[in-house]
This record gives sequence, structure tokens and C-alpha cells, in this order.
Amino acid sequence: MNPHWTTKHGAVAPKAQFKTIDDALRFMDENNIDKFVYHPYVCPECGMWHIGHIRPKKMNKDVPAETIIRYITRERDRFKQKLDVLVPYTKSLEKRLRAQQEEREDRHDHEIEKYEKRISVLEKTIERLTTENSNLIKDYRNSEWFKSLERANKQRRAEMKTLQEVLNRVNVENAKLKARNDHEEDNVQ
Ligand SMILES: [Zn+2]
Repeated sequence: MNPHWTTKHGAVAPKAQFKTIDDALRFMDENNIDKFVYHPYVCPECGMWHIGHIRPKKMNKDVPAETIIRYITRERDRFKQKLDVLVPYTKSLEKRLRAQQEEREDRHDHEIEKYEKRISVLEKTIERLTTENSNLIKDYRNSEWFKSLERANKQRRAEMKTLQEVLNRVNVENAKLKARNDHEEDNVQ
């Protein structure tokens, strides 16, 4: 931006020019311009005085030392005020974050503990059921009822075998009879 121009509410306007610093300061007084925020300076292009924002970079020997000191003091106080607010806030925030983190870790540990307990209970239950099951099978095999079943089964298998043998014999006899019958019929014809 050309130093002769300024933006006012977004529109470009020419900067006010003054022949002397006194003219510039009078203008500032008349228009109630904050000397903590603005200051008069010599324009390097036209050699006239303008009024601009105070920035340490822009300050030169033409700015009264008093203005610079006031500006720096004011900035320092402002910074201190900000620090006074920010430091306790940051500390409390850190404390809160740490507490939250610890709480989360505690909760996490608690969850893990809870699941480990559940798993251990389940494992014990499985172990108990397995033992009970094997005992039941043992009891079942040793029971008189199971033994009688086995005996009955064995007997039935033996009976089946005998019946099969009888059936085989009958079949052989049948075949013989049929052969004889066929022979006799041949002789009749
Ligand atoms: Zn100028």
C-alpha cells in the first residue's frame, strides 16, 4: 500500500499530510485520535508528516521518545495482563487434562481387571464342567444299567448270528429243493 493512501471501512482514501509534527499532533488532539495507538511519522516519499499505527518497525527518530516509552510500557502491561490470565488457565487446563488422563487409565485398568476376572471364572467353569462330564461318563459306563445294556446287546448280536446261519442253511436247502423240482418237471415233459 502506497504510504499516501489508507483504507477506511474498506475504501481507499488519501492520507492526511502535515507540514510539521505540531500540525499532526494538533490534528490528533482535535480528532481525539489515541496517541497510544497512532503516532505521527515523516513519510520517506513526500517528506511530509502522516499519522499511522504504532509499530516498532516504523518508529524512527521523529517519533517522540515519550510516545515510544508509553507504547512499550502499555504493550508490556497488556502482555503481563494476558500472562496473568493465561498462566493460571494453562495450569488448570494441564491439571484437568492430567486428571482426565489418569481417570481414563484407571478406568482402562479397571476394565481389564474386570475382564480378566470374568475370563478366570469362565475358565474355572469350563474346567469344572469338563471334570463333571468325564465323571458322568465314567459313572455311566460303570453303572449296572449300562452293563446290562451291553450284555443284552451282546446277546442280541449272538442271536442275530445264529438266525443268519439258520437263514443261510434254509437258502441252501431251498436251492437244492428247487433244483430237484426242476429236474422232475423236465422228466415229466
Ligand atoms: Zn507521504
